[in-house]
Amino acid sequence: MPELNLVLLGPPGSGKGTQGERLNADLHLPYYATGDILRGAVRDQTALGKSAKEYMDRGDLVPDELIVGIIAERIDSEEARQGFILDGFPRTTPQAEALDAKLGELGREVSSVLLIDVSDDEVVRRLGGRRTCEAEGHVYHVEFNPPKVEGVCDIDGSPLIVRDDDKPDVIRKRLATYHEKTEPLVAYYDAKGVLERVDGAREPSEVTDELRGILAAVGS
Ligand code: ADP
Ligand code: ADP
Repeated sequence: MPELNLVLLGPPGSGKGTQGERLNADLHLPYYATGDILRGAVRDQTALGKSAKEYMDRGDLVPDELIVGIIAERIDSEEARQGFILDGFPRTTPQAEALDAKLGELGREVSSVLLIDVSDDEVVRRLGGRRTCEAEGHVYHVEFNPPKVEGVCDIDGSPLIVRDDDKPDVIRKRLATYHEKTEPLVAYYDAKGVLERVDGAREPSEVTDELRGILAAVGS
């Protein structure tokens, strides 16, 4: 099996986390979600968390230099030698360039960028109803993917919470940030010939099936 260096791209709420969890279970590759890493740092009140919190609460991106080193270290680790799944990184052109530079140092490159496409209206619907498990970040939706017991994670039994940045005004700000800072990466990766676009406005299992089909072709 060739190495698989994967990037999940898409607006907030497009289903990167939902699909990433499933691909992670299929592929047994390390899964690095920068939002989860940053929320963990905020929770643990580390120096990173203290610096990142104000940006996250506003719906802005944290500065590139806070996050690039963390991802570079993960990619260079033993566990990521056969590949990795990135969710939420890169989110700016300098981050994409830093990823290419790091992979280049290691004689590697991005294998595939999976763009999960959904409209702004759908993002607002999804993030407005998102519930997140406090312990591990498992993701639910009050209407589209409810837990078996309201307010409780099916997987680890921890409470489900509304993320601070899943409030209506912050959601709108995050969408604007996506269009301004992250959407240019679609053209960036398209030009490199590694972009795969998937319609994310379908049942989660249909999206997963399409992603699996794409990865079967990339990995063969
Ligand atoms: P979502 O899953 O809704 O797209 P994330 O959990 O990925 O959101 O990210 C939450 C917040 O963490 C972002 O709004 C941003 O403030 C910060 N963040 C996550 N990844 C990055 C990154 N690569 N660069 C800068 N900020 C980031
Ligand atoms: P992201 O990581 O891109 O921010 P999530 O995976 O957290 O996105 O999904 C955002 C919200 O939308 C969650 O509440 C999730 O349960 C729900 N969701 C994810 N995929 C779908 C889908 N295909 N259809 C409807 N709701 C979905």
